[in-house]
Amino acid sequence: MIQSILVLGSGSAGLIAALTIKRKIPQVRVTIVRSPEIGIIGVGEGTTPNFPRHLFDYLGISRKEFYAIAKPTWKLGIRFLWGERKEFYYGFSQQLDAQWSALPKPNGYYCDDDFSAVDLPVAMMEQGKVFARQANGAPDVQPWHAFHIENVNLVECLERYARAIGVEIIDGKVVGAERGPKGISAVFTEDGRKFEADFYVDSSGFHSELLGKTLEEPFVSFDKSLFCDRAVVGGWERGADEPILPYTTAETMDSGWAWQIEHEHHVNRGYVYSSHFISDDQAAEEFTRKNPKAPKSPRVVKFRSGCYKRMWVENVVAIGNAGGFVEPLEATALMIVCSESQTLVEFLLHSNLKPTDTFRNLFNKALWNTWEEIRNFLALHYYANTRMDTPYWKACREETDISGLQELLAFYRENGPTGFGRHTLPHTGTDFGMEGYLVMMVGNKVPYQNRSTPTEAEWNIWRSAQAQNRAIASQAMTVKEALYFVHHPGWQWTSDAQPLISK
Ligand SMILES: Cc1cc2nc3c(=O)[nH]c(=O)nc-3n(C[C@H](O)[C@H](O)[C@H](O)COP(=O)(O)OP(=O)(O)OC[C@H]3O[C@@H](n4cnc5c(N)ncnc54)[C@H](O)[C@@H]3O)c2cc1C
Repeated sequence: MIQSILVLGSGSAGLIAALTIKRKIPQVRVTIVRSPEIGIIGVGEGTTPNFPRHLFDYLGISRKEFYAIAKPTWKLGIRFLWGERKEFYYGFSQQLDAQWSALPKPNGYYCDDDFSAVDLPVAMMEQGKVFARQANGAPDVQPWHAFHIENVNLVECLERYARAIGVEIIDGKVVGAERGPKGISAVFTEDGRKFEADFYVDSSGFHSELLGKTLEEPFVSFDKSLFCDRAVVGGWERGADEPILPYTTAETMDSGWAWQIEHEHHVNRGYVYSSHFISDDQAAEEFTRKNPKAPKSPRVVKFRSGCYKRMWVENVVAIGNAGGFVEPLEATALMIVCSESQTLVEFLLHSNLKPTDTFRNLFNKALWNTWEEIRNFLALHYYANTRMDTPYWKACREETDISGLQELLAFYRENGPTGFGRHTLPHTGTDFGMEGYLVMMVGNKVPYQNRSTPTEAEWNIWRSAQAQNRAIASQAMTVKEALYFVHHPGWQWTSDAQPLISK
């Protein structure tokens, strides 16, 4: 029976894992061992909607308290400067895997030329708005949002939550581990201390101290599908003329792409690239040339895309970068951290804290399917992008391994943007689903044969719905206005949990 869990690392992954375990299984002793000397990666600022769902709905954390400490802003989706269109938006709502009842075809068939204002969240993003106004003037905060959060604020906030619910946090650099009959029996720190536990969560970031180094689980590289392996990172203080945008921007660059993430007082920008096509200095030059406000010597972060074949080996589960990593094109890292932590807790509870081999195998299968889906989904972003003809983008179109998507692409090329393509996909429960694939294929104008020729009456219905979405969005609120409301001392969420820290 598991009575004690040691979490190695206190980046966002280790803290979310520890918080989730302690909150849901309070009788288990949870200890974090982390090295302030090694520190945290300190990047990672965008989430998907499963992050607020995990915190507020699953863990029962107070919105008011979280907003006060972590200071998130809202993200309704991603604006892609990608493909041959000037731009397109991927919102967290269902714009394309949907059909209006008055029309005979799903929405994607009406988006060949004009892919805009398909639903309200996208119309909002297009106008830099975030939420509609309620009759009393307050923002109508809808569940179809994710967050932008500065990594340092998030980690500080999670650490305070973890301590408040009884997670012990110990400083120490782990330099070795002792193997026992059921896996790892203890870890040792540089200063000679020994820490024992029944179960271990490896959240040591790219070091993967326990799963990778001690247990030597094989790493599966995604480099045939995802060519990027570095990022230059550097932001700036928001100027008075720079509105807080309600989305992440993903912009095509010569040898990769750049993100822009919106915090209240800070703009975070980074360029993800492939070192096979451009040097660090060239990437920094292109980045600062296109972003004159960015620091002249941006920080270089190296990474490898891929994941370990199994996340759970013996009595060790890896969560966060210690288990796998892909570039932040769809902000998937915290999404996996939350869903994996939740799955682990449910499996531990369902097995009465005595997990069996079949539970472990099922966990590994589910996680592997999720990583494969993320790899395939990101690969489609690169494969379908026809915006630039640089050597990097030519290679993406010609050489990206999209073997996991052959059936979907063949179906789409014949039949177009119908949601039936979902039956070609594995069922993994990510935040993307068929909607994500449709947005990428329609947004990038992937060609298809079975084209529809809507009647004038159909177009009238379509255009009047777009006009209605635009009209509602024009009356909606900016992020700055909505933040004013939720940070006001008198603001009350419709339903909220008790605070954990300031109780
Ligand atoms: C360029 C870039 C952009 C990103 N953007 C996003 C994004 O937009 N959205 C998103 O969700 N994610 C993003 N990520 C991913 C995100 O940074 C991480 O997934 C997330 O912060 C989790 O990190 P982590 O906790 O796994 O690792 P880390 O933050 O690296 O934490 C590792 C922890 O382990 C400890 N540790 C390591 N070795 C030892 C040891 N031997 N002994 C003791 N302690 C040890 C460290 O001290 C630290 O506490 C991005 C990543 C990169 C590289």
